[in-house]
Amino acid sequence: THFGFQQVPVEDKEKLVKTVFDSVAGKYDVMNDLMSGGLHRLWKDDFVSSAGLPAVLRAQGGGKDIRLLDVAGGTGDIAFRLMKTALGVDAGARLPAITVFDINAEMLKVGQARAEEEVFPTQAPVRACMEWVEGNAEALPFPDNTFDLYTIAFGLRNVTRRAQALAEAHRVLKRGGRFMCLEFSHVSLPLVKDAYDLYSFQIIPRMGQAVTGDAEAYRYLVESIRQFPRQEALLREVEEAGFGSVSFLNYSLGSVAVHSGFKW
Ligand code: SAM
Repeated sequence: THFGFQQVPVEDKEKLVKTVFDSVAGKYDVMNDLMSGGLHRLWKDDFVSSAGLPAVLRAQGGGKDIRLLDVAGGTGDIAFRLMKTALGVDAGARLPAITVFDINAEMLKVGQARAEEEVFPTQAPVRACMEWVEGNAEALPFPDNTFDLYTIAFGLRNVTRRAQALAEAHRVLKRGGRFMCLEFSHVSLPLVKDAYDLYSFQIIPRMGQAVTGDAEAYRYLVESIRQFPRQEALLREVEEAGFGSVSFLNYSLGSVAVHSGFKW
């Protein structure tokens, strides 16, 4: 193994993931910018705009009863973009309800503070349309057929029982609802792949050490990316969870991919 994380038993992965994000929560946003050279912002922008939220809101009369769930929502990057998109649709229309869901209370705390101090500081009614819920993606505390959109960005990789999380996503979506996953994936162009591996294994842990004092957390990150299924394999898993009209799209030569499916 490269860094000793490969042998982590299933029961311990959850604890490990929790420790990793506890230790980096405060520096999480800065590290994202550093490691991706700011690219994560563009990936997230594209991801959220490809969710087609304006069409969903218009079709349902201005957001009435539209519910969005952002799993592994962390410090709110996806949820804030979804909300901003909704705010841009029709002035005065009802906003969707957005649930930010994460296993780590520290990450959610940082997210809530961002909402209050940075993203929607003067817009209490907008903040009131967002709720922050702690829990595990493998056992969602929501009834069947609740949400119109399920998003998970850079989260599925951290989930211990992926099939279970995908089944839960399917269960809580309404018929016609959409599942969307943004996640690191695999580059196949040979030279690009070598450069990418060098960057991941050599540079990222050092950056992590310099900024957060925690190189281990960033070794975990790199290792978890390497072990995550390739684009086609993940697509099959999404299909096996019951989703239809599945597809994927590569960003940045496949270093990141978006997987999508519908609950028909
Ligand atoms: N979606 C955010 C973003 O794109 O900036 C945060 C991504 S962060 C890399 C991964 C998040 O997944 C962390 O906040 C972590 O606590 C959360 N997480 C890990 N395992 C989880 C699980 N089983 N259920 C819910 N959240 C989980």
